[in-house]
Amino acid sequence: MDINQYKDVYVFAEQRNGNVQSVVFELVSKSRELADTLGQNVVAVLLGYNIESKSAELIGYGADKVLYVNDKDLEHYTTEPYTQAITAIIESYKPSIMMLGATTIGRDLGPRLSARNTTGLTADCTKLEISDDNHLMMTRPAFGGNLMATIVCKEHRPQMSTVRPGVMPLSVCDMTRQGEVEVVEIEFDRSKFTVQILETVVEAKQGLDITEAKILVSGGRGVGNPDGLKALRDLAEVLNAQVSASRAITDLGVLPHDKQVGQTGKTVRPDLYIASGISGAIQHLAGMEESDFIIAINKDKMAPIFSVADLGIVGDATAIMKRLAERLKVEMR
Ligand code: FAD
Repeated sequence: MDINQYKDVYVFAEQRNGNVQSVVFELVSKSRELADTLGQNVVAVLLGYNIESKSAELIGYGADKVLYVNDKDLEHYTTEPYTQAITAIIESYKPSIMMLGATTIGRDLGPRLSARNTTGLTADCTKLEISDDNHLMMTRPAFGGNLMATIVCKEHRPQMSTVRPGVMPLSVCDMTRQGEVEVVEIEFDRSKFTVQILETVVEAKQGLDITEAKILVSGGRGVGNPDGLKALRDLAEVLNAQVSASRAITDLGVLPHDKQVGQTGKTVRPDLYIASGISGAIQHLAGMEESDFIIAINKDKMAPIFSVADLGIVGDATAIMKRLAERLKVEMR
C-alpha cells in the first residue's frame, strides 16, 4: 500500500432519524485541529435519505467538504449498506484518517470497515495527535484503565479510530463558514442486503441523556439503598439535574446502564458533578474527571475520588444530600 496516496481527515457523520449525532460535531472539531496540523482538509461522510441540508452544520463546525450519499436504504442504519457505501468512498477518495463515534452504530460499523479495507482500528480513543512523521497517534486506556496505550497505524490506511461521545471538546459552530457538498453515487450490491428493518421500538428513557446534562448528581455503592437513592433523586430535582451512577449501582440494576459513568459507561463533562458515595475507581474517573466542577461526598477521607474533587465533604452522603436539598430549597425560593 502506498500510504502517500492517502490524505485528509474523514469523519463518519452518524445520523439517527435524520439528526446528526452530537459526537459527530465533537469529531469534526477535533479533525479540524488534526487537519490543520497536517495541512489537509476535513471531510464529513453523510449517509441518509433526503438529509442533504444537514451538511451546513457539519461545515459550520469545521468540515471543508461533505460527501453525501442519498439512498432509501441508508435512511436508517444497517451494517451492510453503510459498509458498502463507506468502503466505496475509501476506495475512490483514499482518506488518510477515518473517525467514527464510539456509539452502538460506530462500534458495529468501525470493525466491519477496518476488516473490509484491511486496516487497523483503535477503539475508544481518549487522545488523538499527529506525530512528527505525520502519523495519527491514537491513545486509549488499556489493561482495565491502568495504562494508557498510544497506537500508531504506520503501514495501512485509513488510520481508523472511534471516540466516545463527550471526550473531545466541541468548537463553536460558525454557520457562515463555506464548504463544498458533493453528492456521491454508490453502486450497491443489493443482493447482500440481508437485513431489513421491519419496526423500530423506541424505549422510553428516564430523563435526559446524561452526556447532555449540565448538572449530574451521581450515586455509588455508598448510597445504594432506598433512603440513599431517594436523597440522590431529591437533590437532583432541587438542582434541576440528572441522576447518574457508578457501575456498582447499575450492576445492581437500581439504575439503567445508560446512567453509568465511566470506562464502560458514558463519558460526561457537566458544569457540576456531585459524586456521592463513590470511591473514585480509575474506571469511574475516566468518565467524569473532565467535569468543570466536582463535589465529592464520602465518609472515607482517603477515598480516591477526593483527588479529582474541587470540593470534598467527608461524612454520611445520604444525610449530607438531604441537608443540602433542604437548604437549597430555602435559598432558591
Ligand atoms: P465502591 O468502590 O464500593 O465505593 C463505595 C464508596 O462509598 C466508598 O468510597 C465508601 O467509603 C463510600 N461510602 C460507603 N458508605 C457511605 C456513606 N454512608 N456515606 C458516604 N460514603 C459512603 N465503574 C464505574 O463506575 N464505571 C465504569 O464504567 C466502570 N467500568 C469498569 C470497567 C472494567 C474493565 C473494570 C474492571 C471495572 C469497571 N468499573 C467501572 C468498576 C470500578 O472498578 C469500581 O468497582 C466501581 O466504580 C465502584 O463503584 P463505587 O465507587 O460506587 O463503589
